[in-house]
Amino acid sequence: MPRRRGPEATVFERRAPNPAAVDHALVGATHQVFWLDGLSRPTHPELIEQHAADLVVVGAGYTGLWTAIRARERDPGRRVILVEAGRVGWAASGRNGGFCEASLTHGEENGRSRWPQEYDRLERLGRENLDGIAATVDRHRMDVELERTGALSVATEQHQIAWLEGDDGFLDGAATRRLVDSPTFLAGSWDRHDTALVHPGKLALELARVAADLGVQIFEQSRVEVVDDGPVVRTAHGEVHADQIVLATNVFPSLLRRNRLQTVPVYDYVLVTEPLGAEQKAAIGWQGRQGVADLANHFHYYRLTADDRILFGGYDAVYHWGGKVRAAYEDRPETYARLASHLLTTFPQLEGIRISHRWAGAIDTCSRFCAFFGTARQGRVAYAAGFTGLGVGASRFAADAMLDLLGGTPTERTELAMVRERPLPFPPEPLASLGIRLTDWSMHRADRRQGRRNLLLKGLDAVGMGFDS
Ligand SMILES: Cc1cc2nc3c(=O)[nH]c(=O)nc-3n(C[C@H](O)[C@H](O)[C@H](O)COP(=O)(O)OP(=O)(O)OC[C@H]3O[C@@H](n4cnc5c(N)ncnc54)[C@H](O)[C@@H]3O)c2cc1C
Repeated sequence: MPRRRGPEATVFERRAPNPAAVDHALVGATHQVFWLDGLSRPTHPELIEQHAADLVVVGAGYTGLWTAIRARERDPGRRVILVEAGRVGWAASGRNGGFCEASLTHGEENGRSRWPQEYDRLERLGRENLDGIAATVDRHRMDVELERTGALSVATEQHQIAWLEGDDGFLDGAATRRLVDSPTFLAGSWDRHDTALVHPGKLALELARVAADLGVQIFEQSRVEVVDDGPVVRTAHGEVHADQIVLATNVFPSLLRRNRLQTVPVYDYVLVTEPLGAEQKAAIGWQGRQGVADLANHFHYYRLTADDRILFGGYDAVYHWGGKVRAAYEDRPETYARLASHLLTTFPQLEGIRISHRWAGAIDTCSRFCAFFGTARQGRVAYAAGFTGLGVGASRFAADAMLDLLGGTPTERTELAMVRERPLPFPPEPLASLGIRLTDWSMHRADRRQGRRNLLLKGLDAVGMGFDS
């Protein structure tokens, strides 16, 4: 790994650990999603032959699962079928960081700049949504390891301190380090209310359990190949005729041509350590178990698991030419080494620690950094996609927004400009690769130059377009 020094290096380069310590940390790390490792789960049948339903939902990640649950909660008589190409929760929903945020807009800055006239309402709806998730977890006694710890944003470079100074929860460097002890922390801000942590794999499986308890029929290993007029969804061996359809297929190729250029898959990488011992825990503090994220364009997120491992993810955001979703993209040794190095820079006290799991997942990035919504086929098909790394909480809001749209009667949600407006599409190849590569390079450069944005980033800011994970 090249080591940069001097003013244009980040703290992770200025204080890079010994490469031997990085190698040591990664020896024996299994390429497997920690959250799904060893989880016991029921198997749902494949869809064969003809079925009829009032609502068919395509995709059993959080968005599809919440849609099925909310549809039955809102109208217990509705016949709901859920059709999943693989297994429940195998994709982004089973492999994310588990930061369940109130924000529907990927943070206040993004939301307020795009929808100043309705941002306060979006904030309220987001908080109600997070409370709604917690209430569902309570009501159905869902075992999802929900912890309302809040989130700690940390400045790891001098220029980032000013970005936190106006916050209510502002903490100077020493106060931040009293919460979580990293020599990279120069300041922090603890938002205690708007982020909860969950076990992502358990959340997906528990949502499926609740959906089944409410009477939803779930089919796995049944990829929908086409949505025909009727409307009807068809798989290789079966079909469902329904009054209404919800497409909750996230980063996978949209079943609607109009949405094909609305998102691009961006790969995000994650490490999980072995459980910390008592001495290691004492060395870093972290009694409050907050979710932590730094403020760079290429940021890291980290948290503790229930058995006190550290999950450490983010930084590299990798787009591949052609925008395909491929398992082969998930193993990227140079990214895992970079993440392990950054973990050891963040917590040098933990030198000697081993990584137990490494994995990656595709994020459905859209140019406005938060989900978009819409209908097709005379209002009988609804869709939501483009969560851009912020779907753990927002997927429940998306479920309600789609059900509202299918209802046909205006609601507070369907009247939002955020729900009515579509983001700018990405250009086709070769422009997509070129544009994303240049934007990515510019963001790295800004991180090394006191956050200063170059002309390209300023231009993209001006037209409300960008690239993020
Ligand atoms: C590594 C990583 C870390 C992340 N961390 C966070 C985080 O900490 N906080 C946060 O808020 N968000 C995070 N995210 C994003 C979050 O995980 C997603 O926004 C969320 O899970 C999206 O849920 P979903 O149901 O829309 O998509 P998915 O979970 O991807 O589910 C879509 C499902 O649709 C199915 N499908 C697709 N096409 C078809 C078809 N034709 N027929 C049938 N089924 C189909 C797929 O098989 C899949 O199961 C992260 C994502 C990744 C990859």
